[in-house]
Amino acid sequence: MALIGPGILCVFGLSFLWAWAIERKRHYLLLLAAAPALFALGVMVQVFYWPPRTQPNALMSGLFYTTAVLLAAEGILRRSGRRFGLALDLVFLAAIMGGLWYFSHIVPSTLVRVYIQNFSYGAILLTAVFYLTPLMRARAIDRVLFWTLFVFALHFFPRTALTIGTQAPATALAFGASLFWHMLHLSLAVLGAALAAALLAAALSDVIDDLRRERDVDGLTGVLNRRAFEARAEAIIAQDWRKPCSLVACDLDAFKQINDRHGHAAGDHVLTAFGELLRRTARSADVVGRIGGEEFAILLPGSPSSGAYLFAERLRRGLAGTHFPFLPSPGQITASFGIAEHQSGEPFQPFLARADRRLYQAKAAGRNRTIAADTDIVSPVQKPTPA
Ligand code: GH3
Ligand code: MG
Ligand code: MG
Repeated sequence: MALIGPGILCVFGLSFLWAWAIERKRHYLLLLAAAPALFALGVMVQVFYWPPRTQPNALMSGLFYTTAVLLAAEGILRRSGRRFGLALDLVFLAAIMGGLWYFSHIVPSTLVRVYIQNFSYGAILLTAVFYLTPLMRARAIDRVLFWTLFVFALHFFPRTALTIGTQAPATALAFGASLFWHMLHLSLAVLGAALAAALLAAALSDVIDDLRRERDVDGLTGVLNRRAFEARAEAIIAQDWRKPCSLVACDLDAFKQINDRHGHAAGDHVLTAFGELLRRTARSADVVGRIGGEEFAILLPGSPSSGAYLFAERLRRGLAGTHFPFLPSPGQITASFGIAEHQSGEPFQPFLARADRRLYQAKAAGRNRTIAADTDIVSPVQKPTPA
């Protein structure tokens, strides 16, 4: 009976190991795989009563349980880029093991040992919950994980107080038959398994997110690739409440010359820097995509063309003010911009074509400029091409 809970957790442990083996880069999964194994070892030590004396048995099982809880907490924290760190882990471990040693060798008390272990584990996990409070506002799976961990951490306190009270069973045999022992394993089989299931779901959703990112994001510039950009932009312009909505089409000027004069790597460097500038300048609701070699498009939900013009000008000045190591001074790499405001019911491709038309008017008018309304271009080039 006592092996059911650890058995269930060990199945999750193997699942964490399997999830780690998919990419072998999410090392927090190894901590989560080790925690149930150590917990099961702690149960074995108690169930098979080895070593066969109370004090070493209590210390040995306590060491396994405490390490299991610390590994689980570290694993959960590291998934979100947080950690207790080895020093704090060792402080927790030393404090708990010191307490267990004192209350088995100096003032032997099973009752106090039970309280030390359960309350400490609840406190360690609640501290982890505290570290994770930003997850309360994150994705649904993160919120599920946060609240499952919170309930799991909290349950250590009432369960212990209600099932063991003020008197611990006198013998190891009576302890194994006690309400405390049975409720411990029942709660672990239910709440521990719920926590492990939430963690496994969170880990798999991390893997899926990464795959999605690889599918949608352009590796060089960090903005969306054309397919993902179009899909998102089409979905947004279909939503009426995002009106007004503008589109900025953008093309780096004389980019072929940059490649020809300074090499393809320099061209790539410019693209990466421009991608960073785009991501820095865009708001979180904006959609930024690389829609061709050195062509980009930015959809600005909620912006009329006047707002999009200011946005494009910020980008244009930002690029013109960027210093590139292979050029003596800034101002030699520029871009041209064309802007269109969405018209009710207009499909995406004609919308993009209108922005593109203005972009090419900006090119024809001499490059390094933004055009937001159709213009009749009298003289095609008013300014020499930069770079
Ligand atoms: P314009 O001002 O009229 O836009 O002239 P341009 O030279 O920028 O335009 P053109 O279309 O003639 O050349 C675009 C160049 O962009 C050609 C291509 O080799 C280069 N390019 C496209 N993708 C990449 C890339 O990923 N890395 C690098 N380094 N160059 C790229
Ligand atoms: Mg170009
Ligand atoms: Mg081009």
